[in-house]
Amino acid sequence: MKKTLIILLALVMVVTVVACSGGDVTTGGGGGKLIGVAMPTQSAPRWIEDGGYMKKLLEEKGYEVDLQFGEDVVENQVAQIENMITKGAEVIVIASIDGEALTDVMAKAAEEDIDIIAYDRLLMNSEHVSYYATFDNFQVGVEQGNYIVEKMGLDKGEGPFNIELFGGSPDDNNAYFFYDGAMSILQPYIDNGQLVVKSGQTGMDVVSTLRWDAATAQSRMDNILTAHYTSDKVDIVLSPYDPISLGVISSLKGVGYGTASLPLPLITGQDADIPGVKSIIAGEQTQTIFKDTRELAKVAVEMVESILEGGEPTLNDTETYHNGVKVVPSYLLGPVSVDVSNYKEALIDSGYYTEADLGL
Ligand code: BGC
Repeated sequence: MKKTLIILLALVMVVTVVACSGGDVTTGGGGGKLIGVAMPTQSAPRWIEDGGYMKKLLEEKGYEVDLQFGEDVVENQVAQIENMITKGAEVIVIASIDGEALTDVMAKAAEEDIDIIAYDRLLMNSEHVSYYATFDNFQVGVEQGNYIVEKMGLDKGEGPFNIELFGGSPDDNNAYFFYDGAMSILQPYIDNGQLVVKSGQTGMDVVSTLRWDAATAQSRMDNILTAHYTSDKVDIVLSPYDPISLGVISSLKGVGYGTASLPLPLITGQDADIPGVKSIIAGEQTQTIFKDTRELAKVAVEMVESILEGGEPTLNDTETYHNGVKVVPSYLLGPVSVDVSNYKEALIDSGYYTEADLGL
C-alpha cells in the first residue's frame, strides 16, 4: 500500500514537471512563448504562404503564434502590433505595409523589451530592429535585367527595342532595390540606344506603383499606350511583381496585343504566384522570380530562436541594409529566375506547387 502511494506520488511529480515546462518535452523549446507575426495583406498569395509557414514552423517548435494580416491598411497593422504587445508577445516578426510608418509602435515594443525582426521588407528609421530576413533584393532586379538582355540578344547588339518600366510601391524599401538592380543591367542599353523608353518615364518617382496595385499599373499602361504607342509597338515590359505583369497584359490585350501579328512583349515578374505561373505556361507573361518562402520562414524562425534561447543566428550581410538609423544585420536568400523552360524543375520538383495547383 505504502509502496503504491510512493509510486503514485512520484508519477504526479513527473507529470507536474512536464506540465510546468510548458510543453518543452514534447513540442520543442518554445515553451508556449507568444510570437507575433504581422503580415501585410492576404491579397497576394505569397504573404498567405509566408504567414502560414511561419505559424507552422513556430508551432512545431512549441511557440504560440498570433498571425495577423493588415490588408494593406497601415492603421490596421499598427493596431495589430499594439495588440501583440498587450498580449505579451516576446518577439514580433513584421513584414510591413509601409516600412516608414511603424517607428512609434516599434518604440513601444522596445519599452516592453520585445524584439523585432524585419521580414522580407526592411523596417525603416528605427534602432529597434534586431535582424532582417529577406532575399537578395538587388539581385532580383539583376535577374530580371539579365533575362531581358539574354532573350532580346542585347549583348549581341540586337535592337533597338521599345521598353516600358514599372516599379513597386514607393513605401517599400525593396522596390528601390528591385528597380536599381534591373537598371544596373538595362541602363547601358538605354544609354546606347538599343533600348528606347518611348514614354520617357524612368526613375522610381514616376514608374512606382503604390501598394503594388495591379489596377494602378494597368491604368498607367493604358495611358502610356494611348499617348506613345499608336504607331509603334512595345517589345519589353520590366515588371517587378506578377499581379502588375497581369495588369499590364490586360492593358496590352485591350489594344490588340496577343495575336500572331501583334505578339505580347517580353514581360518580367516576381513571386512565381499561381496566376503568374499559369500565365507563363499559357505563353503570356514571360518570366518571374521565384522566392522560396519556405526557406525565408526558416531563416526568420532561426532568428526568433536565437533571440529567445541565446546564440547567434546565421547572417550573411551586415553592410547593405541601412534603415536610416543603423545597418540591420541580415540574411539574404537567393532568388531564382523562372520561365517556361524551368518552371517544372524550380516549382514542382521542389515541392513548392503540385501540378494540380498549376492546372496541369
Ligand atoms: C516583396 C515581393 C512582393 C512585393 C509585393 C515585396 O516587398 O519582396 O516579393 O512581390 O513586396 O507584395
